[in-house]
Amino acid sequence: MDEAPGTMSILKDDAEPINRRGFIRSLFSLGGLHAATSSCDARAKAAFVWCDLLNGNVGFPTGLSVPFEKPGSLMKLVAAACLVEENLLSQNEKFECTGTFAVGGRVAGKRDTSVHCQFAHGKVDLVRALAVSCNCFFAQATSRLTKRTFLAKARQLGLASPVAGRRGGVFPESEGASGQSSLPYVLGLAEDFKPSCLQLMRMAALIAVGPEGKLPVLHSSENFTLVEKEKPLSVGLTSQAREVLVAGMRHCVMEGTARKLDTQDKLKIAAKTGTTPHGKTFQSHIIGFFPFDKPRNAFCLFAPAGTSQDAAVPEAREILFSTTW
Ligand SMILES: [Zn+2]
Repeated sequence: MDEAPGTMSILKDDAEPINRRGFIRSLFSLGGLHAATSSCDARAKAAFVWCDLLNGNVGFPTGLSVPFEKPGSLMKLVAAACLVEENLLSQNEKFECTGTFAVGGRVAGKRDTSVHCQFAHGKVDLVRALAVSCNCFFAQATSRLTKRTFLAKARQLGLASPVAGRRGGVFPESEGASGQSSLPYVLGLAEDFKPSCLQLMRMAALIAVGPEGKLPVLHSSENFTLVEKEKPLSVGLTSQAREVLVAGMRHCVMEGTARKLDTQDKLKIAAKTGTTPHGKTFQSHIIGFFPFDKPRNAFCLFAPAGTSQDAAVPEAREILFSTTW
């Protein structure tokens, strides 16, 4: 791989971009990054993708492979958008989290299922539920949200369509019987729903630009001659829903599950984490964008080993602060 930072070129308007790979790699000073991650045992490396919201360039500083995994609690963003747009929640409605909530027979094929939170979160509203990723809140609040409505919103947010010349991940073939519970999808644990990191990053990008903005067609910086056939996605969110998602993602960084991402708030990030069980251990994701008040970049990181606290958040912090933005 060419890692010579000396050959980096600066892009100007329509000038031919030269050595984009060198550009992206030097941007993230990868020598140091790989040395740092490989020193903590033989565990698999995280995958990180980011995009420039103004020109649509996508960078792959950790390599070109793009994981497709269960998205876990990242899907609470989709659920939250549904709750707002479908008026399934009254304004400022709160639910009590005692740390466990019995969902009964709502999950197909399973009886007496319960969802759990690591802590009892007490009475939480939607924004706080996003920030602390409260499973008990979402299990209660989405009792009237069907799989069908959830999947329609997931489609609108690009989770069923290709991105940057790459195919999308597994998306449910059936829209679900009428009234079927959305809960396994809300929690991002369904076996038939595994969006790619690029799709998850694009969802963060769509939330970032909002319904008044426009997201350019995303394209790989590594492959700049590729003729784009993808159509730009319109932002399938109302301004009200977008406002709630941004508030939740911002609180997530300030005081929620991503509070160790940027403790000095230098990049002004808005983010959401997700952790899923993987055998006897965990996998985790984080998606986000920054600066939250004038978004310029969006990203997604997948960590193949560890919860979001142990892996996705610290690994994203390491990468985000290995360069100047
Ligand atoms: Zn909770």
